[in-house]
Amino acid sequence: MTALRLVGLTKSYGHVAALRNVDLDVPAGTLTAILGPSGCGKTTLLRCVAGLERPDRGEVHVADAPVTRVPAHRRRIAIVPQEGGLFPHLTVAANVAFGLDRATRSGDRVDEVLALVGLANHGARWPHQLSGGQQQRVAVARALAPRPPLILLDEPFSALDATLRADLRRDVRQALLADGATALLVTHDQDEALSMADLVAVMRDGSVVQAGPPTDIYRSPLTPWVASFVGDAVSLSAERTPEGFTTPLGKVAVADPPAGDRFTVLVRPEQIRFSPNGHGITATILDIEYHGHDLLVSLQLPDTSTVVARVPGTTAVERGGTVRLVVDGAALLHTT
Ligand code: ATP
Repeated sequence: MTALRLVGLTKSYGHVAALRNVDLDVPAGTLTAILGPSGCGKTTLLRCVAGLERPDRGEVHVADAPVTRVPAHRRRIAIVPQEGGLFPHLTVAANVAFGLDRATRSGDRVDEVLALVGLANHGARWPHQLSGGQQQRVAVARALAPRPPLILLDEPFSALDATLRADLRRDVRQALLADGATALLVTHDQDEALSMADLVAVMRDGSVVQAGPPTDIYRSPLTPWVASFVGDAVSLSAERTPEGFTTPLGKVAVADPPAGDRFTVLVRPEQIRFSPNGHGITATILDIEYHGHDLLVSLQLPDTSTVVARVPGTTAVERGGTVRLVVDGAALLHTT
């Protein structure tokens, strides 16, 4: 079943086209991320789905029923906002029970969803007695409680620090999965989208420019813009020679090569590897960025162009030193 279907959704504010003909299918029981930079239309899309905004054209279907003209409070869609939005005068349990009918409220659903988000035995607390991360967990439990056909997560972790965010992403994903919920996550954070979602829809200027599983978006971006938005990309000029495709980084495999003798290919920094056995192009280390588990190394190539390689954090490197480089796997895509 399709939990959410958007057909030709279009919305403008004066001369600003916030949504342009957006089609999207969110299968039931999955987490779909809407990923895009600031101003690309993510919030407008979320508000049209929730019923808080009326599209100029197009349709919204929830659980295979048209809801475009149904008011927000009758869509039964739950929203987890950026910052919890808990009622301060209600306990955690009362917050979670808020949208439930009397029969469900007296059953064990409240305890069940609190346990799912890792807050068993926190029902008697007050919101001000919880950390920011715990408040977001309660907000997710409250959204899950009435088993809505769809949960909207609006940048739900953006106010939290990085370490907390990683744990929360994992736990929230597991809670949604365990409860069989369907969720639409809006985020500008590519790590968040790639690590949490079953499907990612990348938006730019009001349009969905690519939608698919995270691995497809990362490994087979349809455009250079998608390639650099969902990760780092190194752009290389490529020339067809009798021996293969030559780039400033040496010979590179090109999947599905275009016609013509000269074009541009993209590779990910982690495809650029230091060669241990003296093969490959010689490069000079210009700079090293330490990220713990990996290093981002800026390198100058013999033709004076620079590239960035991502290598394991344990690699021995020194600014000014020289290394030999090879490219693993095929180039991502080519542009003319
Ligand atoms: P952010 O990540 O910064 O929240 P977003 O991707 O959610 O951005 P939207 O808030 O949907 O983007 O905005 C899309 C475009 O529509 C932007 O150019 C924005 O300035 C414009 N816009 C949004 N709401 C309104 C409004 N009420 N009136 C006028 N223009 C608006």
